Amino acid sequence: MHPAPGVTDLLVLGGGPAGLGAAWRAARAGHRVTLFERAPVVGGAAGSFEVAGVRVDHGSHRLHPATDPRVLADLRALLGDDLQTRARRGRIRLAGRWLAFPLRAGDLVRRLPPDFALGAARDAALAPLRRAPVPGGPDDTFAAVLRAGLGPTLTDRFYLPYARKLWGVDPADLAGEQARRRVTAGSPAALLRRVLRPGTGQGQVFSYPRTGFGAIAERLADAAAAAGADLRRGATVEAVALGPEGVAVTAGGRRTAGDLLWSTIPLPVLARLAGAPPAVLAAAGGLRTRAMVLVYPVLATRRYTPFDAHYLPEPFTPVTRISEPRNYRDGDDPPDRTVLCAELPCDVGDATWRATDADLLAVVVDALGAAGLPDPPVRDVAVRRLPSAYPVYRRGYEAAFATVDAWASAEPRLLTFGRQGLFAHDNTHHALAMAWDAADALSPAGTVDVAAWTAARARFATHVVED
Ligand SMILES: Cc1cc2nc3c(=O)[nH]c(=O)nc-3n(C[C@H](O)[C@H](O)[C@H](O)COP(=O)(O)OP(=O)(O)OC[C@H]3O[C@@H](n4cnc5c(N)ncnc54)[C@H](O)[C@@H]3O)c2cc1C
Repeated sequence: MHPAPGVTDLLVLGGGPAGLGAAWRAARAGHRVTLFERAPVVGGAAGSFEVAGVRVDHGSHRLHPATDPRVLADLRALLGDDLQTRARRGRIRLAGRWLAFPLRAGDLVRRLPPDFALGAARDAALAPLRRAPVPGGPDDTFAAVLRAGLGPTLTDRFYLPYARKLWGVDPADLAGEQARRRVTAGSPAALLRRVLRPGTGQGQVFSYPRTGFGAIAERLADAAAAAGADLRRGATVEAVALGPEGVAVTAGGRRTAGDLLWSTIPLPVLARLAGAPPAVLAAAGGLRTRAMVLVYPVLATRRYTPFDAHYLPEPFTPVTRISEPRNYRDGDDPPDRTVLCAELPCDVGDATWRATDADLLAVVVDALGAAGLPDPPVRDVAVRRLPSAYPVYRRGYEAAFATVDAWASAEPRLLTFGRQGLFAHDNTHHALAMAWDAADALSPAGTVDVAAWTAARARFATHVVED
């Protein structure tokens, strides 16, 4: 608890949606906020930038209908009519056919080869007989959770090859939690229902700003600055001091002291910067993330296809998804060109990570051809690299996370949250909900309500990722 009532000096690490949302809400409540962001611009993985005059995102980004209504109301107030409601127009390539994505039961039956469709139908009928593995038990793997829920057909022919590409490990080595967080929580029946009946609204529509997904972070940054927050861009945090009397952050050689520290940067990085004990640092080493190379071919055509995203789960290409940003919005995109965004999961330093732009473009063009899409009139290419795109929940990761989290939670002046702060495969709306909850837990006197934060952490554990 903070000793002195009154204005609190809050230091926030990271200028993605989580850090910006928390900075805005805390500054609006009257606290003195300083935010440190390594990049010259805000937004983190949810930021946007321009390629050939077209605003693009770091891979396909949508704001899902599951967004907490209070968060959505604030975003609507900040973005106004710029936040558009769009119908999803995605497709997935399965067994050489295109199906609507999110999957729909009717499509599975009508469009898939008979053996695939019959297998999926038989698995659906037998679902009540299957039992999910006990969470944390010896059989609790990604593959086992999905087989129990979906049955072998969809698991083996869709999810497991996709998982291999996304996380770069054998799905038998992935923890069951990866399936519960990534595909859905709940029972096998709930999991099946989600695939076969995406429901009304969920999975059918999404929200998206007319100038790119990054506008969400940009408007949050504007609002935070207007509320008095000091947003320091290009400020890589180099050291963190956590003590009983106060906290301090060193960025760009400059030390800033404060009362509280809220961190949304990767948890292992925070542990290192704060000089955590060796056992914590060793555990932090076990929290692996998957990297991603994003390839943006610029095409000399107004629109490549009418679809917003093409999902490619099968092993015929390392590309997992190709999106066309202009199809996510009704905006002011140029009439003579469009830009695609291809996602290639990889590991930092591997052959994909190090590949030249020309080689990466060749991989993407091959993927488009192999998927049966038109020959793209490429006139240029841009490439971006994300070192920490997805957490990898290898079996046993829970113990490593628990060790690092216990260290962070024992620091009375520290909160960690956001996708990287909690090593969670979360969507933007989850990261924003965390930020809102953190600010709500901060009293006018500058103390964090521990019970409220503990309850919020329990809610975060139930987050399920939307694709
Ligand atoms: C390919 C892809 C597709 C996605 N699609 C969707 C989608 O469709 N819908 C959706 O809702 N979400 C999607 N997401 C997830 C979304 O990007 C994240 O949920 C969101 O960015 C999380 O926000 P955050 O603030 O927690 O973390 P981040 O956005 O990762 O922000 C963390 C910030 O910390 C900064 N930082 C790190 N280290 C330091 C340091 N030492 N000093 C200072 N700053 C530092 C980083 O530069 C970054 O800006 C997708 C993610 C990826 C990778």
